[in-house]
Amino acid sequence: MAVVGLGGMGNWHRELVNKGVQFGGVHKGKKIDCLRITGSYDIKEARQQFAAQNDLHPYNSLEELLGDPKIDIVLVSTPNELHKPLVIKALEAGKNVVCEKPVALNSKELQKMIDASKKAGKVFAVHQNRRWDDDYLRIKKIYSENMLGGVFRIESRVHGSRGVPGGWRADPACGGGMVLDWGVHILDQALQMTDGKVKKVYGSLTNITNELVDDGFYAELTFDDGMIFHAEVGTNNFISLPRWYVLGRDGSAVIEDFYGNGKIIRITDYNKNDAIPIRTAAGLTKTMAPRTKDTIKEESLPVVNPDIRDFYNNFIAAIEGKEKLVVSLESVMRTMKLMEAIFLSAKKGKPVKFE
Ligand code: NAD
Repeated sequence: MAVVGLGGMGNWHRELVNKGVQFGGVHKGKKIDCLRITGSYDIKEARQQFAAQNDLHPYNSLEELLGDPKIDIVLVSTPNELHKPLVIKALEAGKNVVCEKPVALNSKELQKMIDASKKAGKVFAVHQNRRWDDDYLRIKKIYSENMLGGVFRIESRVHGSRGVPGGWRADPACGGGMVLDWGVHILDQALQMTDGKVKKVYGSLTNITNELVDDGFYAELTFDDGMIFHAEVGTNNFISLPRWYVLGRDGSAVIEDFYGNGKIIRITDYNKNDAIPIRTAAGLTKTMAPRTKDTIKEESLPVVNPDIRDFYNNFIAAIEGKEKLVVSLESVMRTMKLMEAIFLSAKKGKPVKFE
């Protein structure tokens, strides 16, 4: 495999593929069989030098990289607006292609990329790596195994306090902004949570620190069974809310961070409903009094142990014709259309129909 765009994320792939899983979990240190990154091309001289210092062959041009018959797979990890032209070029050169997220700037671009992969007869995959996130898979398990007895609301948030990073991420022409950057992950996860359809979408963008691109957003997705999924990205949040907050009829779950710290609280006795009212200076409330310990139970979150190498294992199996892509192009298109619906809703200032 060769990398086009050896920046932060291109190098992450180099480390994963050539050195093994880098962070946490039971898979740390494990490598991916039969895959090596051997070269790269970047327009920045410093990144070309970095490649050479890290045992990669720095190709002098994109054409030279695409013309190398030893390369089976090209990873496109450049700024977003370059994904479409580079992916199509690599497919036309007869390479299988992995493209970083967001796959493209809009669904029209994505359709052209899908058409090019069909024409070339090559595998084209999109790196929606956060489908292997530990926190997301724990929530998916809680939801799909009905561990809270009928989930009616899922809240998924990522909060930072540094605004939109500079450079291409703050440039609309490059596909900057937080809907395309982080939204693409958490909205993709939302759509993978269930087989249900999203009937209605309400989106609202923020421009607190940046006028040119959205520096955050929230979106409310109403699924056909009535479940509400609240997705939110904030970049001016000096206090972060939990990564996940889930409400079911019989319990609630929270995951605080990316590391799976959290808990489930489940009701054990609905009938014991007596409460000692809370007294405050200005009044009292029984409704909001905390439950007594004998009517609820605290439980640990389920364990899932995802293996991020499975993205590439599946990609290789798809090239060999043994498996279908886990991150199907249909699912990537659906997320792209959902982001377009969020932009449309934000523009109109009201909910829009989706599926
Ligand atoms: P970056 O700015 O660190 O790296 C981009 C690199 O592309 C730079 O080194 C730049 O010089 C190079 N480049 C620009 N134009 C080029 C061209 N025409 N040919 C070759 N190289 C070129 O950005 P990044 O953070 O690495 O992001 C790259 C991509 O990865 C983006 O699409 C981003 O959304 C995605 N990304 C994905 C994740 C994830 O978790 N999946 C995380 C971060 C970034």
